[in-house]
Amino acid sequence: MHALDTEKVYSLEDLVSWPGEGVSLAVLGHPVKHSLSPAMHNAALAHMAEREPSFRDWRYYKFDVTPESLPEALPNFAAAGFVGLNLTVPHKVVALPLVASADPEATRMGAVNTLKRTEAGWIGANTDGYGLENALREELDARLPGATVVLLGAGGAARAAAVRCLDRGCARLWLGNRSSERLQELVRQLEKAGLGERLRTFLLAEPPAVPADAILINATSVGLHEDDASPLDLRGYREPLRVFDMIYRPPRTALLRQAQEQGWPNANGLAMLVHQGVRSLEIWSEADVPVQAMQQAAEQASSQS
Ligand code: NDP
Repeated sequence: MHALDTEKVYSLEDLVSWPGEGVSLAVLGHPVKHSLSPAMHNAALAHMAEREPSFRDWRYYKFDVTPESLPEALPNFAAAGFVGLNLTVPHKVVALPLVASADPEATRMGAVNTLKRTEAGWIGANTDGYGLENALREELDARLPGATVVLLGAGGAARAAAVRCLDRGCARLWLGNRSSERLQELVRQLEKAGLGERLRTFLLAEPPAVPADAILINATSVGLHEDDASPLDLRGYREPLRVFDMIYRPPRTALLRQAQEQGWPNANGLAMLVHQGVRSLEIWSEADVPVQAMQQAAEQASSQS
């Protein structure tokens, strides 16, 4: 049974004396102190252990790992007996060439957030798109097939979202970004992945007209600071939109407040975080994962942090 502290931030030095018993999982990030993942996963594992005793000695930890040390860290986690890893900022893209193989969706996204240890080495997946699609359905009753999606941002989160929307058959994807360079780079990556049709682009300074009920997703980092303005001024839109902000801390960004004022359906990114975690734990455990337990733990941990 693990006697380690799942709230503590561990470092690579701790791997040297990592206890061999039990099944260890972890999130690697830099910084990682405020990650909600240990609370979510350990709550889910406690529920799973009630019906399946083999999960009693599964624990999920957090490790602060710099991007420079990731190449040497991954084999060390395998040697220390870890069976699954989540990767968060800034590791998702740099880890892709470090894994033995990655599934096709992660390859198209250019990033991995979930690693599973196998005899062949770490294999990678990306559960962010799954998390997004489930959150849209659960929170906004919004489905991707046939939808018009307006996606703000051109970084890693936007690329994962764009691949999922196009893979799942959205009718039209509007991609909007502040800088034209990064926007064009994202378009090139999507074209290279065979996903170049159905795309429209715009700069945030020149927002387009979009049909009613379009799904608007914020995948920019605008809103992370309490006093950030909305990345797109929703007051210019007459037709209702369904608005999803990937940001969950703070819980109500200026974008979501504007959507609320317009009376439109809106939700923050906490459910996306939960569902990507659910899918990761399914991959590692090959068992049913209690969504409700993860959701409650995420809400509680996020309100305390
Ligand atoms: P990146 O740093 O890769 O991309 C940031 C994006 O934000 C770029 O498109 C950038 O535009 C834009 N941006 C930054 N500052 C401004 C500004 N002042 N005005 C307009 N646009 C701006 O970040 P990620 O893609 O990794 O993450 C984006 C967001 O998604 C973060 O807030 C992150 O927390 C969230 N996220 C949430 C998840 C969840 O589970 N809920 C999962 C993953 C991410 P430009 O190209 O012009 O610089």
